[in-house]
Amino acid sequence: MADTANTQTGTAPHITGNAYPFVDHVYDVVVVGAGGAGLRAAFGMAEKGLKTACISKVYPTRSHTVAAQGGISASLGNMGPDDWRWHMYDTIKGSDWLGDQDAIEYMVREAVPAIVELEHYGVPFSRTEEGKIYQRPFGGMTTEYGKGIAQRTCAAADRTGHAILHTLYQQALKHRAEFFVEYFALDLIMDDDGACVGVIAWNLDDGKMHRFHAKLVVLATGGYGRVFFSATSAHTCTGDGNAMALRAGLPLQDMEFIQFHPTGIYGAGCLITEGVRGEGGYLTNSEGERFMERYAPSAKDLASRDVVSRAMTMEIRDGRGVGPNKDHIHLHIEHLDPKIIHERLPGISETARIFAGVDVTREPIPVLPTCHYNMGGVPTNFRTEVVTKKDGNPDSVVPGLMAIGEAACVSVHGANRLGSNSLLDLVVFGRSAAIRAAEIVKPGEAHRNLPKNAGDMAIARLDKLRNAKGDIPTSKLRLDMQKIMQNDCAVYRTGKTLSEGVAKINDVWNQRDRVKVEDRSLIWNSDLAETLELDNLMYQAKVSIESAANREESRGAHAREDFPDRNDETWMKHSIAWLGEDGKTKIDYRPVHMTTLTNDVQVFPPKARVY
Ligand SMILES: Cc1cc2nc3c(=O)[nH]c(=O)nc-3n(C[C@H](O)[C@H](O)[C@H](O)COP(=O)(O)OP(=O)(O)OC[C@H]3O[C@@H](n4cnc5c(N)ncnc54)[C@H](O)[C@@H]3O)c2cc1C
Repeated sequence: MADTANTQTGTAPHITGNAYPFVDHVYDVVVVGAGGAGLRAAFGMAEKGLKTACISKVYPTRSHTVAAQGGISASLGNMGPDDWRWHMYDTIKGSDWLGDQDAIEYMVREAVPAIVELEHYGVPFSRTEEGKIYQRPFGGMTTEYGKGIAQRTCAAADRTGHAILHTLYQQALKHRAEFFVEYFALDLIMDDDGACVGVIAWNLDDGKMHRFHAKLVVLATGGYGRVFFSATSAHTCTGDGNAMALRAGLPLQDMEFIQFHPTGIYGAGCLITEGVRGEGGYLTNSEGERFMERYAPSAKDLASRDVVSRAMTMEIRDGRGVGPNKDHIHLHIEHLDPKIIHERLPGISETARIFAGVDVTREPIPVLPTCHYNMGGVPTNFRTEVVTKKDGNPDSVVPGLMAIGEAACVSVHGANRLGSNSLLDLVVFGRSAAIRAAEIVKPGEAHRNLPKNAGDMAIARLDKLRNAKGDIPTSKLRLDMQKIMQNDCAVYRTGKTLSEGVAKINDVWNQRDRVKVEDRSLIWNSDLAETLELDNLMYQAKVSIESAANREESRGAHAREDFPDRNDETWMKHSIAWLGEDGKTKIDYRPVHMTTLTNDVQVFPPKARVY
């Protein structure tokens, strides 16, 4: 209770001055993140006899994975013929040939045992008449290499992520992974050989600093959707692990590839399903024009996601956005029979009422193309070991560090992720991390030494932000960054907007020293936590927009107006970007893996991506 009182008065009872004494821990493995990826890895590692800690800044079952609705893909063939090779082809085509084919082969083959395992763990999947796992069709999922429509996406009603996350958490508790809940990981501890030897975390509840010494650290911190003004992801999706990797001197890969969904609610970002347009909903600009007729004369409002998102962005750019700032678009369903809305779109009316204050039977829903998924992240091999380019070797493994889930770039999604392949990525590579950890970590063996200054960098950064007495509130700086990213690095990009965007992001980056943190407490200080998150976001904004400015082609989610075609000759390669504390970005490239793991399948060579 004393702590609560202190929170209210904003004082710091345990820590005075600059002394931040560490609470020390020793583990075989520390997993940072308790979403689908982190939980699958954590209990897999505990199950294999490794002393495993799992750190999460939110309660595990509040991780963003809980929001996934549609489902998880696997070629089980429960609802018709299927083959993992077809799934492999679809994923490679979806990735616009930027995905690594060895990793994709691994994911789609392991999908089948991974789903069976999930079923045995207790995920309450929906069922067919015969009692098999129910599978639904999903975008880009086909049979016979594009000829038919596959029913490949396993679903637990429209709450698949919720069902999976809760089941994995129960498994993690059962296998006695040790949880540090509402601990905010600040930074990795790296030794002089470039190996990761631990992580520093701030206990939000009592303000103490914890130093975890580990043989292996796994980053499972999720995506960074909140770098944009409008995102379907939770407020906690700030890509902290990605920023930690950059600060540790490691690169991030393919950060220019960001998936946008056309209809997120303006301001709130909550998803309004494509089904709304399927039922006859349509979009208008400030002149009341149904502009999609100009961009996609036959499919109109039902053109593919990237086409609609690009058209909406063009209208806003040309000054035909709606609202006082002319910065969004209207989605209409008020012409539909209320009975249809009630029967077929029950969730939408409620979502629009709560998050936009709109009665959908009388007025349009304000919408905006909304950041939905980050294909880029910490580069890894299919064993989930983090890789970097070192001494000319693009696949050089960083000892002691793994990355999984949306934080990682394996790369199985390449330039564009197919729906339902992300939940799959979480469980397959979470499991792969546990398998690899059991091979390389031996419980009895000694740890690498902690360097003398272990944790100093993390504490210095925290201390600086905690005492930041500038003139710009965190919320203002964050909004500036989000608006720049939304305007200049969203669905539709040109050399001009990108170079303007790079300059503007640099301005914001240079204002980091002017940030103002009012609350100096270390206990439940959301002002400080949000400032740390904003700082992390700014690292990713910089490498994302600079990687986008460099890539002079259009591929998957990266659509350049000035370079409308895919250019395999020059650009079939992953971007890798480093960022120094001085704000200097270094961009390099590594080849796409055009190899398979076995002889059971051939490499799929690039061809035009037509649906
Ligand atoms: C609305 C929505 C619907 C979706 N629907 C689907 C779908 O139907 N099918 C599909 O395949 N994909 C879907 N996706 C994508 C998919 O859900 C995500 O990519 C996936 O859940 C990410 O899981 P994760 O484990 O990598 O990270 P998350 O679930 O985001 O978890 C991140 C974890 O890291 C922790 N963390 C982060 N930073 C720190 C820190 N500094 N210190 C300590 N802990 C930290 C958090 O506490 C959390 O536990 C959807 C996404 C959204 C946003």
